[in-house]
Formats: sequence, structure tokens, C-alpha cells
Amino acid sequence: MTENGKKRSDWFTESSTEIVQLRLGPSAEAVGRVEHVADNVAAVSGLPDVRLNELLLFEGGRTGFALTLDEETISAVLLDDGAAIQSGSRVRGTGEVVRVPVGRALLGRIVDPLGRPLDGGPPIAAEAQEPIERPAPAIIDRDLVSRPVETGILVVDALFALGRGQRELIIGDRATGKTSIAVDTIVNQKDADIISVYVAVGQRATAVERVIEAIRNHGAMDRCIFVVASAAASPGLQWIAPFTGFTMAEYFRDRGEHALIVIDDLSKHAATHRELALLTREPPGREAYPGDVFYLHARLLERAAKLSGKLGGGSLTALPIAETDAGNLSAYIPTNLISITDGQIVLNSHLFTADQRPAVDVGLSVSRVGGKAQHPALRQVSGEVRLQYSQFQELEMFTRFGGISDKRVKAQMLRGKHIRALLSQQRFATLRMIDQIALLAALNAGTLDALSPEDLATLRTRLAAFLDANPTSATTAIEEGKQLAESQLADLVAVVARLAAELASTAADAES
Ligand code: ATP
Ligand code: MG
Repeated sequence: MTENGKKRSDWFTESSTEIVQLRLGPSAEAVGRVEHVADNVAAVSGLPDVRLNELLLFEGGRTGFALTLDEETISAVLLDDGAAIQSGSRVRGTGEVVRVPVGRALLGRIVDPLGRPLDGGPPIAAEAQEPIERPAPAIIDRDLVSRPVETGILVVDALFALGRGQRELIIGDRATGKTSIAVDTIVNQKDADIISVYVAVGQRATAVERVIEAIRNHGAMDRCIFVVASAAASPGLQWIAPFTGFTMAEYFRDRGEHALIVIDDLSKHAATHRELALLTREPPGREAYPGDVFYLHARLLERAAKLSGKLGGGSLTALPIAETDAGNLSAYIPTNLISITDGQIVLNSHLFTADQRPAVDVGLSVSRVGGKAQHPALRQVSGEVRLQYSQFQELEMFTRFGGISDKRVKAQMLRGKHIRALLSQQRFATLRMIDQIALLAALNAGTLDALSPEDLATLRTRLAAFLDANPTSATTAIEEGKQLAESQLADLVAVVARLAAELASTAADAES
């Protein structure tokens, strides 16, 4: 009996207690034929029953999936190297959509979008095989975002807090630090309860290696899954990679755990989609993308969610990355993605070259739902900062050509410069919640005003150890996720002030 037929009869016997009416006699299995093949896309005839996205088996064991269905032919995207497939090759449908392994065995592994190891390790001992396209949770199955994802990056956590279950786009020109923000966030989860999935689509192999090395070197490897379809992989593999990543991450979401998925990046994914659409002769629309590219990314990102308590309360947070050209956020793919997601972190190439890193454009970035999930004490101390900082940026423009005499303006400028210094952060120098709260509380209290930029940098590196050595009642309140009372805030500021004073005196000693 055919593979197809066998599955179908199993299904009948399992799901029905009625007498199964088996039709006896010979059964027919549809075998299609490759009409022509070019650029990893095959036109297949003779398979009228194949469904969209169904996995197809080609003669010689190669696989592909049905991307478009016409009356006579199917356009099949090949998942492996198509060299062995020629016109005349035979094809069978499998009755199944593409499935990938899921489970804990994937942690610490590097796999391709079909779940095959790329790290030289043994095959994945999967708990199950799940389809790569799964429906997103319905509204009723979702809950409000209520807990933060701590990135450890001050500008993000303080000004654009991310909530578990949120979709936040990281967008900017080439080489502005997009990947770095995502990787630092993954590394910051090494002692947290969040599993990360990093999906590389169309990246250079060296760039992917750098990401994996960084995560490995910072000890976050065994809480991370890597799905890699580099620029050299077939367009079919690149096309399914984000879907695979979501399916692997949903495994954790659906078990009441918390997961984070990074897709690096969706601009390249859109380009692959356009390439395949043009090869399958779909009518091109704006910027030659097919009209369904919006739906493609919307249904993908819709799978990020905070599930209701009834469904275990798990969450899946998505950080898709997109590239802009000359900062143009109104191009087709960027506008699509901005409207699909719950906010965006915009990186600016001018800030990057001016050494303001992470080069986050505070004016254009936004997080629409994360504020509610922010730590109450961090919200308490960060409220003023954003306003002060944008006022400073305006003032800086105005005062560029002339000196300022007004005392109040001078003070505002000084505060702004300190905020800028605080918001710039080296890579892999993530700050804990208490460090962030202490820094901003001290900033608001004016404790940092007298420090030079160098002292500020030293203060930041020594802060964590100093806070640990000098615990106050604020320490426990922050651990318990509470807001701080005035006195607790003052205690915390006093600790930072002592460290600042120590630095100032060592600086004075060095001078004398
Ligand atoms: P691409 O467009 O090539 O994907 P990207 O936008 O993802 O680039 P990254 O690769 O993350 O950018 O970063 C570009 C360079 O900037 C890297 O060398 C990285 O180490 C450096 N960089 C990023 N963030 C910081 C930072 N906060 N401090 C110092 N250097 C940084
Ligand atoms: Mg990158």
C-alpha cells in the first residue's frame, strides 16, 4: 500500500469507532511530472490534489514544497540543491505540509530550516514533528503583556521597554548595530527563564558565525536554538526559515514557558519571497514585491503572543530585524513591518558614526505595549529622562552656532549630555535592573552632574559590585518588583553618591 494510503487508513481506524468501510481493490497514487526546472523552482504537472505548502517528494529523494497552485501546474520550490532534478523527473505529493522537529533536544544546536544539524552533531532527537505553518493564537487565547523582557540595554529597557509576547522591530541602515542589540538581548537571558531562537535568513556565513561565537563565548549557548539559512542556502530554505523558527519557539510558549525569537532579517526574507514570486510568475506590485508579502509577514509575526492563564500563560516575544536604505522608513517593507509590529527600535547611521552606540534614534523609536510591563521602579525613574533628552537634542541644534548664557539652559544641556553618556553602552556590558534603576535615580537627583565622562564610564563598570556590597531596602523592593518609596530611592542614590565621591577622590589623588 502507498505511504499516502496507509496514513489515510490509519487515520480512519484511529478516529472512528464505526465500522470502517474499506474499499478493496487496487488503489491509484498520483505521480506528477516535472515539466521544467530553473532557479530552484520546478513546474509540476499531474498532481491535481496537492495543497498549498504541501511537501513534495522528487525522484531521488529531494524535497520541495508547493508555493503556488494553478489549474494545470504547481510551482514547487526546491528545498535542496536542484541539480539532480530535470524535466521528466517524477514527483509525489505527501499529503503533509513541511514539518520540523521540536523539543528541548534542539537547545544549543545549529540546524537548517528543515531541522537537520549544521553543527556536525548527531541528528535531533525530536519530541515531535510540527508543521512550520501553524495558526496564531486567537484573541481569546491571549493575555495582556505584563512582564518585561530585560534586554540589559539601558536605552531600550528604560525608554522602550519590551514586554513578553510583544513584537518589536529593530530597523536601521546597514551596519548600524541591529544584530548587536538582538544578540546582547539573547546573551542577557542566560540566567533568565527565556529560551532564545535566532533565525538567520540570507546573512553572510561569517556574520552568522560571529553571532554564534558571541553567544557561545558569553555562556548563553545552551539556552538558544540557531536556525540558519545563510545567503548560500537555497531560496526555498531561506523562505521557510522564519516559519521553522516560530514553530520551534512555540514549543516552549505552548508549555507555559517563555521564548524569544530573533529573525535576522525580514528584508532579506521579503527579497527571497519576491524572487520566488517572480519565478512563479505572480504579478508584481509595489517595488516589484508580490501583493501578499504583507500577509506573509503579518501571519508570521501574529504567532508571537502572551497566552492566557488557561493555556499555561507562556509567551513568545518576537524581535524581527529589517534593513533600511539611507534611513528610509517609508519604503514598502519597512512601512509594512512597522504597521505589523507593536513598535520599533530605529537605529540611525549618523548617531552610529558619531560614536553614539547603540545608535538608537530616540525620536523615531517607540514601544507600544511594553510600558505596561516595565518594572515599576524603572518606570518611576525613567519618566523624565525621555522628555529631558528630546529637549536636549532640540536645544543642541539651536545652540550649535552660538554660546549659551542662560543658566537654566546650561543646566539642561549638561543634564542632556549626561543622559547621552549614560545611554551609550558597550556591547556585552548589559546592566541589571537594579543597576539601571540606581543610575537613573542618581541622574535625576543630580548626583552624576559633577562627574566627567570618563568617571561616569568607570562608575558604570564598578556599580554592580558596589551595589551588591552595599545592599539597602531598595534592593529587596526591586527584586520583588515593587515601586520604591521616597526613602528607598534616597538610600539607593546615597550608595551611588558614595561611589561617585570615591571616584572623584581617586581622580584628585592621581592629579596631585
Ligand atoms: P548588518 O547590516 O551588516 O547586518 P548590523 O546593523 O546588524 O549590520 P552589527 O553587525 O550589529 O550591525 O554591528 C556593526 C558593528 O558595530 C559591529 O562591529 C559591532 O561590534 C559594532 N557595534 C554594535 N553595537 C555596538 C556598541 N553598542 N558598542 C560598540 N560597538 C558596537
Ligand atoms: Mg546584522
